[in-house]
Amino acid sequence: MSAKANPVSAESNLDLAATHNFIGGEWLPGSSAETLPVLDSATEEEIGRVARGSAADVDLAARSARDAFSAWATTPVEQRVASVKAIVDALEDRAEELRQVVIPETGTPISQVDEGQIAYANEILNGYIDGADSVTWEETIANSTIFYEPIGVVGGIVPWNYPPGAIASKLGAALIAGCTIVLKPSEIAPLDAVVFADAITAAGLPPGVVNFVFGTGAGAGEPLVTHEEIDVISFTGSSRGGRRVSELAAASLKPVSLELGGKSASVVLEDGDLPTALRYCLDDCMLQLNGQVCDALSRLVVPRERLAEAEELAAEYVNSIVVGDPMDPETSVGPLASAQQQEKVLSLVDEAVTDGARVVAGGAGRPEGYTDAGYYVRATVLSGIEPTDSIATTEVFGPVVCLMAHDGDQDALEIANGPMYGLGGAVWSADGDRAMAFARQMRTGQVDVNTAEYNFGAPFGGFRQSGHGRELGRFGIEELLASKSIQV
Ligand code: NAD
Repeated sequence: MSAKANPVSAESNLDLAATHNFIGGEWLPGSSAETLPVLDSATEEEIGRVARGSAADVDLAARSARDAFSAWATTPVEQRVASVKAIVDALEDRAEELRQVVIPETGTPISQVDEGQIAYANEILNGYIDGADSVTWEETIANSTIFYEPIGVVGGIVPWNYPPGAIASKLGAALIAGCTIVLKPSEIAPLDAVVFADAITAAGLPPGVVNFVFGTGAGAGEPLVTHEEIDVISFTGSSRGGRRVSELAAASLKPVSLELGGKSASVVLEDGDLPTALRYCLDDCMLQLNGQVCDALSRLVVPRERLAEAEELAAEYVNSIVVGDPMDPETSVGPLASAQQQEKVLSLVDEAVTDGARVVAGGAGRPEGYTDAGYYVRATVLSGIEPTDSIATTEVFGPVVCLMAHDGDQDALEIANGPMYGLGGAVWSADGDRAMAFARQMRTGQVDVNTAEYNFGAPFGGFRQSGHGRELGRFGIEELLASKSIQV
């Protein structure tokens, strides 16, 4: 199989990815001539194609990552960290290229793309760089010296909602831990990986340390999970996908870490600041990646006596949110990433309304002016919802918030912990101790108390069906280390 040298211009790389995968530091032709289209979320027009990777491509990539493993695993940590810093610099140089692919692929509005997609990826990488200092690489307990060693070759699988951040989450942890990686981007938003491959080449990483194989979950993802040279799977995606990956990995007892979906609750206690909480929750669920966020605060749980006030405030605010063309600087909510996602959100809202949910803002159907092309849905707030209703327990993954009433702290806690998910959450109270006590009882991986800054050094991951394993900072690095004890 002949290899083409990696061309310097990003445009050429995007063209190459239509037929090639990035393996061993080169763009190698795919094993089959089949390709996959990449569509613009706003127009449904084709903006590029990627190779439809197969088991043969995964095999080449896994062997390439295996060949590179020993040298990378024994490269001093300081040098591995320096390589990740070089990737950050190379990505900063390619911000415009990332912008040009991530907006059409994901529908992220231009007003949010820099912070929400591009800087976000570099913040993740910087969080790993900072986290490296606090990893315990070696310690002594009595007569044992314990070494924390890279676990091996990582198989990374990522979704389409925040492709630069998702790729950065897998790469940063693997590279600093001393692991090599084969990563399969989402078939819906794969072009960011081409820009990453270019950045990795510019950063001077040794060939084979990072490899990208394009393709579908069944065609390239499953062979990655079952490949004998892949030591661990790090999967981010749906609970359905995570279940299938776990089943396949079980055959070889391969460890799997899963970052899955959520149905996170923002709970306003009776002394909480309702207007601020409401705005925080609606912005969190609607003004970030059009609601396609795994830990989005998609349930707002307020004291029953304040439900009417919450409905009024929510209607006023959401009716002012501009849904539309992601390239328009005035737009706050763009289209969803795919037709499948649009259909899912439209049908969940429609079903909820048929089942008796009250429409406070937005509602079923596509937004006015966007009924022909583009995967648009309306920014929607539904009320009158019971904790066990399908819309209150199912992940929507769009700009849809369920407004629910509680009758005191215990009831609010039961509602918050009701769904099988546990990824994000928030609690609002004028009493810090009360809020902290409530947060401690929420069965979820992260909770914001009143307003809170995102912390790229804190562990991120789920309880229950939101998955297991942790990413970000030292916690993500430690996930990819295995202890070895040597006794003398
Ligand atoms: P998905 O499960 O359909 O796909 C995710 C990735 O897995 C894609 O690359 C896909 O090709 C691959 N895949 C699918 N089936 C596979 C299989 N059988 N074997 C191997 N790979 C397979 O998810 P999606 O629709 O792309 O993403 C949306 C979901 O991701 C939501 O549920 C969201 O909550 C979740 N998500 C979670 C996090 C987190 O950190 N917890 C972050 C972002 C998104």
